[in-house]
Amino acid sequence: MYRVEIDKRLCSGTSNCVEDAPLAFEIGPDSIARLLPNAPDEDALIGARSCPLVAILVYDATTGQRIYP
Ligand code: SF4
Repeated sequence: MYRVEIDKRLCSGTSNCVEDAPLAFEIGPDSIARLLPNAPDEDALIGARSCPLVAILVYDATTGQRIYP
């Protein structure tokens, strides 16, 4: 299982992550991306890879090892 962090200082709300991985991300009322509950790991990774600002960080929830970037 993955742990996903969104760097709110970097996110500019371009929505690439939402378009590519709508099961994992949405844009919140603050115009910043946020992770959806029960987001599938694979979709979270797809969304992270779509972010032009590399604002989405993905870790292995068990080991803490960084998966992306
Ligand atoms: S693709 Fe990146 S910058 Fe765009 S909304 Fe998603 S996290 Fe934010």
